[in-house]
Amino acid sequence: MLDPAVAIAISALMSLMLTPLLGSLLRSRMPGVSDWFASNLMMVVALPLILLRGRIPDAVSVVVANELMALSAVIYYVGCARFLQRPVRWSVLIAGLVALGAALVYWRYVVDSIPQRVLVTVLFSAALCMAVAVLVVRHRPPARAAYPYWATATMALVLGVCQLVRGVYFTTLTGTTNTLLFATAGSVALLAIGGAIMPMLSMAAMMMVHDALLTDARAAADRDFLTGALSRKGFEAAVQRLSAGAVSSGVPLSLLIVDLDHFKAINDTFGHAGGDAVLREFVRRVESQLRRGDVLGRMGGEEFAILLPEAGTDDALRFAERLSRSVTLQPVDTGSGPRRYSFSGGIAAWQPGDTFDLLNMRADAALYEAKYSGRNRICVYQGRTEESAFASVPP
Ligand code: GH3
Ligand code: MG
Ligand code: MG
Repeated sequence: MLDPAVAIAISALMSLMLTPLLGSLLRSRMPGVSDWFASNLMMVVALPLILLRGRIPDAVSVVVANELMALSAVIYYVGCARFLQRPVRWSVLIAGLVALGAALVYWRYVVDSIPQRVLVTVLFSAALCMAVAVLVVRHRPPARAAYPYWATATMALVLGVCQLVRGVYFTTLTGTTNTLLFATAGSVALLAIGGAIMPMLSMAAMMMVHDALLTDARAAADRDFLTGALSRKGFEAAVQRLSAGAVSSGVPLSLLIVDLDHFKAINDTFGHAGGDAVLREFVRRVESQLRRGDVLGRMGGEEFAILLPEAGTDDALRFAERLSRSVTLQPVDTGSGPRRYSFSGGIAAWQPGDTFDLLNMRADAALYEAKYSGRNRICVYQGRTEESAFASVPP
């Protein structure tokens, strides 16, 4: 039969091996990683102290070691909460640790009872395991893959159940202080499963971090850093998704391309930072007018594209007119003074079978027409001709 000491030693060794792996994630600066690292490190220290039982004072091998294991579980939970940007109720956690410490001292020095000590420690860690499982399942960010969260919750649940069963099992034992009680088959099996799962919880945490890093990297590639609008790549992907929907539902879809007028002059007058402020403000303004499902992308420089699902060219024109009025009426604070600006726009209707490039080319032709015919206006691409359909307040 497996020696309980071996089960604990294997668990300690696995935790030790995970330390550099968790450490390598520290520079990701992701919330929770440093807590998980600290939690794992506490296990690396606590488990050998338990092994040294009988060779070092009980105050260390019983009270300090168990309290350190409990602290490790608390910090693991805190890591999960921080990672998921949930509040941490420190008062409850600290009160739990203090109560556990007092119970350990009582059941060692006032009444020496292994079953009671086991019961209080397993109740404490089982409660934390359940809290971890509920936390990660309930608060998983919707955009992230589900499996790392379910893996964490499952392992926390299995560990929690093992702990509870072990606690209940120990309460059935009499003869209190005999450490050989640890060596019964059922107890060792539960200890070994629990011991294997503790490092696996650290691995599950790393899975959640890797998944979050990948999701963030993908999102960063799809977003424009300056304005927060979709990048050209992200926008094209959105167009592909939405045009597939338009094929099946048969609803219209329009593309509006806008280019800010005389933007170079804004940069020349207010500096690059002033130009940046105008770009950011423009995106905020567009976003405030988008309906659910509309998509905005920055195609480069001061050119933007807006995809309007369920909108024919008339609807798109009305949207562009409204946007143009709101932009031209209100000057932007560039940081070096207010500045009015305008934009020119081109609209094209998507037709089944159109690629993004074709749709873009038509809207671009209409935009060229708007620029060519004086700027601060919107043109609609209709068949082979571009018709000047709107002229707003002159600049
Ligand atoms: P038009 O009315 O014909 O569109 O003239 P324009 O001045 O807007 O267009 P032009 O292509 O001559 O100049 C665009 C300028 O936009 C040049 C470039 O330096 C500037 N620009 C491109 N990207 C950025 C950016 O991210 N921030 C700032 N501040 N300026 C940018
Ligand atoms: Mg321009
Ligand atoms: Mg341009």
